[in-house]
Amino acid sequence: MAGKLYLVPTPIGNLGDVSRRARDTLEAVDLIAAEDTRVTVKLLNHLDVKKPMVSYHRHNCETAGPEILRRLEEGESCALVTDAGTPAISDPGEGLVALCAARGVPVEALPGPCALTVALSVSGLPTARFTFEGFLPQNKKNRRAVLDGLAAEERTMVFYEAPHKLCATLEDLEAVFGPERPMAVCRELTKLHEEVLRLTIGEARAHFAVQEPRGEFVLVVGGRPPRQEAGDEEAAVARAEALRQEGLPLKQAAAQAAEEFGVKRRSIYNRIVGKEG
Ligand code: SAM
Repeated sequence: MAGKLYLVPTPIGNLGDVSRRARDTLEAVDLIAAEDTRVTVKLLNHLDVKKPMVSYHRHNCETAGPEILRRLEEGESCALVTDAGTPAISDPGEGLVALCAARGVPVEALPGPCALTVALSVSGLPTARFTFEGFLPQNKKNRRAVLDGLAAEERTMVFYEAPHKLCATLEDLEAVFGPERPMAVCRELTKLHEEVLRLTIGEARAHFAVQEPRGEFVLVVGGRPPRQEAGDEEAAVARAEALRQEGLPLKQAAAQAAEEFGVKRRSIYNRIVGKEG
């Protein structure tokens, strides 16, 4: 009979967040597959658990995945952990879960820490409907293409971001969603220097232009206000200006922004022409 793969969430900063069930599972399994065994051994020492480990990360998952699957099919049980948070959420774990699912190997997920849910819940933005976008592409053109696809998104949007890319991403967010869109910048969650800034995209961009971004970030961005409410003309003008920078003629840019933001094309057009004198 096949063993079982357990997805075991680990703290995203505060060791106190590891659950009793997570500890019991780590102690009970035959082996632990870890993203970085040097990181996981610290957690195991803290929990006083000794267990054989294998590495499973984005650079070896193509070979390590089938090997772990083989051991599961032979009846061993395995806990999958990543450096922090819930395995398979913006982590290589999703590939191993897919392998198990395809071969009928049971997978059990334990609930626990995840930067996405911590940030969303503390953001102060609507949480009833949201979209998780994970990491945006590194390449500017591809990043803009993804954000352009979200220009009309009405749900709250959640992004993971690295500190060295934060400023470029905030600039792109401002270009696509406009400076007035509310957001929460969630930094170092559950850690000593945890910070949650609830501001507009324009304010966030200005803040990090003078304050060097440090630590780990989740960005939570409010969705576009629904159409039936007054259209967000400010954001629509910013969007049309961004589209023009991308090479669209003014008329077309105004038409596209009008469609996306539910604002009259003529008022966008007139405001841009008025600005330019
Ligand atoms: N699987 C993890 C989870 O459940 O959140 C996410 C792994 S992903 C490789 C790492 C990213 O998660 C970081 O770049 C950052 O965007 C976010 N993150 C992780 N820990 C965080 C923390 N303590 N505060 C803010 N963001 C965090």
